[in-house]
Formats: sequence, structure tokens, C-alpha cells
Amino acid sequence: MISREIKIGEVGIGGSKPVRIQAMLKSGISDSKALLREGRRLVEAGAELIRCAVPGKGHAAEIYPILKELSVPLIADCHFTKTAALEALKAGFDKIRVNPGNMPEGAVMDAVEKTAEKGAALRLGFNTGSCSVSSPQELAKIALEWDEKIKKTGFENFVVSMKSSSVKFTVEANRFFSVYSDTPLHIGVTASGSGIEGIIKSAAGIGCLLLDGLGDTLRVSVTGDSVQEVVAARILRGIASEKPERLEIISCPACSRSRMDVGRISEKFREALSEEDFKKKLRVAIMGCEVNGPG
Ligand code: SF4
Repeated sequence: MISREIKIGEVGIGGSKPVRIQAMLKSGISDSKALLREGRRLVEAGAELIRCAVPGKGHAAEIYPILKELSVPLIADCHFTKTAALEALKAGFDKIRVNPGNMPEGAVMDAVEKTAEKGAALRLGFNTGSCSVSSPQELAKIALEWDEKIKKTGFENFVVSMKSSSVKFTVEANRFFSVYSDTPLHIGVTASGSGIEGIIKSAAGIGCLLLDGLGDTLRVSVTGDSVQEVVAARILRGIASEKPERLEIISCPACSRSRMDVGRISEKFREALSEEDFKKKLRVAIMGCEVNGPG
């Protein structure tokens, strides 16, 4: 089903809008300078929405005035009780993320009511770590029940996410949900791991959904540098469209037919490029011979 359009701050999500890249800050909540520095690096790398964990009382009011210097909508990630969520809305966050799997139903509904009053947005984030389910369909059904419950209040400015560290589970839950609801989807594979393993799992899950036409915001979540998550997210968003997201270097694997050292030339080419060059939306092919080259 085509998703309905909603708004997070001034940014449109869903419908015909492009898939938006979300990043999450990893610096400690008590180090506001580090949070701002990291946020700036993420926005510079291409993040369009910044999420920050708001673990407890007083944190939202402390960090919002600092993070609002970033030029993108801010999302507060809140769990367990409604306190942090309500404080985040009061402080000025554009969106809150709550998890019905670890928050009492009444608290979630209070957060929905306050979000509507403030004209903010909300994400209902379900994951297999906090919802005890045995199948992707079961997770999607829980999400669909909540989806209906919230729409009945007249509030529609929300998105849903269903994540698991299993790629197959994540993809199937999102596919199931999207058959029955027009609510925009935030997609990602949660706790996918570190290094190449995390990137491959994220790419497989997010890539599958994007190629299905699903996903309105996305976050790559791997253990490690948050800037790398944004770089991976931009590459992923590019694979679902005909146009490259950033400089895309196509190189062949090389074989006995090669007339040059493809690996060395690709490496030298990459080294010669600046950060600014990588922002150019171009495809460059480095091929060992004319077989698969542009003639
Ligand atoms: S482009 Fe040429 S050199 Fe590269 S893998 Fe294909 S056949 Fe081999």
C-alpha cells in the first residue's frame, strides 16, 4: 500500500517524498558538546533526521537547546515510562519514538495525546527484543492493532517500525504490515552487529524492502562509527533508485582478461578523491577490459 504523507518538523515523510536518512547519536547523554559535534558530522555526511536517546528525567530539556543548532528535525528516543517522552515534547523535539513493547498502554496513549497537542510526530517502534512474538506476522499484527488504535483517536502523524536482528524476520514483518496499512514505515535491521557483518545484514534487509518500494525513513544500525552508518544508508538509498546518491565507483572484479590492475587503480582513484568529490552524484566505471565496459 502507498504510505500516507506525514511531517516531522518541516520535513515530509511518506507518500511521494524521498526515503529520508535517519541517524542516531552515540555520544554519552551527559556530554552535550560531543553530541553536537557528532550531530554536525552526521548532518554533513547526509543525515536528514537526527535521533537522540533521552534516557531519563531532565535530559530532554538539557540537550534540546544544544541539538537544535543542527538544521534537521530532532527525534527523542524514549522508553519504559512516559516521563521522558512528555518532557521531550515540552522541550521542543519534533518527534518522539516510543516502544509499546516496554511501555504501559496508558503511557503510550498519553504520549500520543501530547504529541497531537504539540503538532509533533511519533514513531511506534516495535522490535523482537521487547515484544515477545514467535513470527514476523505476529509482530506485524501487534503493530497493526496499535496502528488502528491510534488512528481511531484521530491522530495520524506517526510512523511505525518493526525491527529484528534477523533480516528475514524484519523483511517479512514489514511486508505483512504494508499490505494492511498506509502508515509510513521507518526501516532497519536492529543490532545487526559490527563491521562487514553488520553492513551486509543491514544492506540485505533494507535493500530488500527498498526494492519492494517499502520504507519512508531508514537507519543503518551497526556497532561502530555513526558516520559510517550514514554513508551506508546513502549507498543503500541509491540502489533503490536509478540515480546515484553520491559518487558511485563501479569496478569489475578483474579476471585473466584484465589489461590493468583494477584493484590498484580503484584504490589510487579513491585516494585521490576529496570528501567534496564523494558528494557528486556520478557513476564512474573502472573496468579491466572492454567486455562489460561502456564500449
Ligand atoms: S570487465 Fe573484463 S577484466 Fe573485468 S572482470 Fe569483466 S572480463 Fe574480466
